[in-house]
Amino acid sequence: MNRPLLTQTRTGILILTFVAVTAGAVGAFGISALTLGIPTAVLLALLTDGVARPGSGVFYPTMTCGPRDSQKVALTFDDGPDPEVTPAVMDALARYGARATFFSIGRSLNEHPQLARRLVAAGHELGNHSWRHSRLQNLFGAKEHTREIERGEQAIAALIGCRVKPLYRPPIGLKSPQLARVAYRRQLTVVAWSLHSRDTRIADPKRVARRVLEQIRPGDIVLMHDGHDLPGRHRPACPKAVRMILWGLRKKGLQCVTVSELLNLAR
Ligand SMILES: [Zn+2]
Repeated sequence: MNRPLLTQTRTGILILTFVAVTAGAVGAFGISALTLGIPTAVLLALLTDGVARPGSGVFYPTMTCGPRDSQKVALTFDDGPDPEVTPAVMDALARYGARATFFSIGRSLNEHPQLARRLVAAGHELGNHSWRHSRLQNLFGAKEHTREIERGEQAIAALIGCRVKPLYRPPIGLKSPQLARVAYRRQLTVVAWSLHSRDTRIADPKRVARRVLEQIRPGDIVLMHDGHDLPGRHRPACPKAVRMILWGLRKKGLQCVTVSELLNLAR
C-alpha cells in the first residue's frame, strides 16, 4: 500500500501546522522564548493527549461509542483470553444471550487455541490488541508497530480466516504519531471506549458492576478485562461483575452486541 502523504494524515497536518506557525511567529517577531516556546508547548500538549485520552482523535480517528438513540451497548474485554477467567465470562454472556468483543492479545490466542475457537463459535467478536501488549509501545517506530499489529491480525486470521480486518485497540489505549502512520497505511478501525469499568483498580465485582450500571447509556462501549497483560496474573472478579452487569442491563432494556454491530460496520 502507498505511504500516505503528509497532508493526508492528522499527524502530518499537525506537523505542517507546527512548522508553519513556528516559522510565521519567528518571521514576524524574531527568535525568542515565546515564538519557539508556545508552539512547542502546544505540540507537547497534543502528544500528551495521545497518552492521556484513549478516545482522542488527534492523531487518528478513534471510535468511542455507537449511536445514542439505539438500545444497544457493547461490552469489551481486553488482555485475554485467560483460561482461568474467560470461560466463566463466556458462560455468563451465554446465559443472557449476550455477545461481546474480546480485544485479545495475539500471543495469548496462540497459547490457548481451544479457548479462542470457543469464543468465535459462540459468536463473539475478536479484536486485535497487538501481539505482545507492550507498555512501551509509544516508544516504538513504525516498523515495530507494524510487526505487533500484523502478528495480532495473523493470530485472529488463523481462527476466523482473512474475511475482515479486525478492529484494533492499542494496548492501554496509547496513541502516537508513529502508530497513526501505520494505522493510516493499514486503514485500521481503531476503537477505544466511552465507559471504563475501572476493573483494573477496583477488586470488588459489586463495585465494578455498580459503577457500570450507574453510568451506562445507550451506545456505550464498556471497557473490561478478562485477562492480564502480565504473565501469571488474572482478573478473577471479572465473571461475577459481568453477571451482575448483564442482569442490570436486562432490567434497563439494553441489549449487548459486538462493537462491529453497535457501530454498524459491514462485517
Ligand atoms: Zn490491554
